[in-house]
Order: sequence, then structure tokens, then C-alpha cells
Amino acid sequence: MKYLGAHVSAAGGPDQAVLRAVEIGADAFALFTKNQRQWRAKSLTDDIIEAFRNACQEHGFAPKQILPHDSYLINLGHPDTAGLQKSREAFLDEMQRCEKLGLTLLNFHPGSHLNKISESECLTRIADSINEALSHTQGVTAVIENTAGQGSNLGWRFEHLAEIIEQVDDKSRVGVCIDTCHAFAAGYDLRTPEACTATLDEFDKIVGFGYLRGMHLNDAKSGFASRVDRHHSLGQGNIGLDAFTTIMRDPRIDDIPLVLETIEPAIWAEEIAWLRGQQLDHG
Ligand SMILES: [Zn+2]
Ligand SMILES: [Zn+2]
Repeated sequence: MKYLGAHVSAAGGPDQAVLRAVEIGADAFALFTKNQRQWRAKSLTDDIIEAFRNACQEHGFAPKQILPHDSYLINLGHPDTAGLQKSREAFLDEMQRCEKLGLTLLNFHPGSHLNKISESECLTRIADSINEALSHTQGVTAVIENTAGQGSNLGWRFEHLAEIIEQVDDKSRVGVCIDTCHAFAAGYDLRTPEACTATLDEFDKIVGFGYLRGMHLNDAKSGFASRVDRHHSLGQGNIGLDAFTTIMRDPRIDDIPLVLETIEPAIWAEEIAWLRGQQLDHG
């Protein structure tokens, strides 16, 4: 079973995100549980929490089909003490919002060294940040997203993800989300079925499918190995459709949310229907 959806708007409350997912024929979705460009947010009221839980139940969304994304401001590998502290507090708040909503996954970008500390120091900081957040929460898995490697962002190599996971104490609550656009921009080829399978095999070897908790299905406006993060609609970018057909037919990618972050929300329903049709057994 493959769950398909998109990163839908939560304007009007997280329960509205559920309805937007239903409208596009999704059985998975991503959302921000607060404004992603602000540090602070009002805490979730009991009414908001209940409305969200009811909407999920009514429309058949289990927690494993929902992949919330944290704020873009958070840098869990921040080189400065004050910046790191601020990010850790905000990340804990994001984890606690997920806990309250009954969500079990939180997707985030690992962090940036800002050219002030080494890669390995930054990766250790990120792992320590995860450890701290996990020690104050229950039931939510920290899902590290691979990045395009823009600027000093880490997590663009599968080895970075593995190095972080290795330093996380509770391996049952750490996972990974592969973004196809980011992987391609980072230098992992996906343009043919063979290349796509080879990239997935490499992921399995370095990180392991046991850690895969979600994927972001995006074509890329940016070039191969460009280290530039620019998403495109499926089949309209430099990756092409073969990668997405290959992913839909790979049984290693079952039972996790596969989420579009493509640039034309108006065609998400079409993209989801097309992806579903790529499955051989329509299972
Ligand atoms: Zn992301
Ligand atoms: Zn993504």
C-alpha cells in the first residue's frame, strides 16, 4: 500500500488541511502545524486539537499517513550557542504540537554549519538536538530530510543522514524522508529506472530502508548535482517521469506517506491519480 498526497495548506486550522487532502484524492498529506516563517506560535487549543483528530478519523487518516514539516527557521546544527538554543526550543515546541495532535512523525531539515564549525561537529550537534527533543517527548519520530546541499546545509549526502542516526540514542524514534528533487540536486541520479534503482540501493546500503518514514516526490527545475533546491511538477523538470514510476513500483517504499511539494497545487489531484496508476497491482 502506498499513501499519496501533497503538502497542503493548514490555513484556518490543521483540520482544514485534512479537508484539502481529501479534495485532491489524497490518502497522505503534509502540513505545517504553525506558521513556518515565524519563531513563535499560539499554542494549540483543545478545540483545534479535537477538530483535527475528528477530521483525521472521519476521513481515514492514520498518523503514519501524515508527515508534518517543521519551521524553516530552525537550525539544529547551529554553530552559536544562542542560535542553537533558540532552534532547540522551537523544535521541541514543534514535537510537542505533534504529540498534542496525535501525530507520530516530524519532518525537518537537519541543519547548517554556516561555515563556522566542521561538518562532523555540526552533525553531532544535530544528533544531540534530536536526543534532547526525544528525551522530552513521547511517540513522535524525528524524520530527517535529505537536502539539496544549498549553502552550508548538511544532509545532502546519505552518509550525513547515517552519521546523525548513528549518534541518536533512541533509534526507534529517528527516521528519514527522501526528497527526490533534493537527492537529484545533490548528485544522486534518478533519470532512468536503472539510475533510480541504483540510488535507492545506495540509500539502503548507507542508511537502510528500515529508517524510511516518508518521501517527497518532486521533479527538479534545478540541474543534476547543482546543489540548488528548485522543485518542479512531475515530468516537467530535469528528473522526468521514469523515476516516479520506478518509485511507485518499488515494494521497499510501501506504507509511508509519499508527498508532493510540486509547484502547481492546481494539478496535485492529477499528479496523485497519475502516480496511483503507475502501480502494477494498484495495491
Ligand atoms: Zn523539507
Ligand atoms: Zn522536501
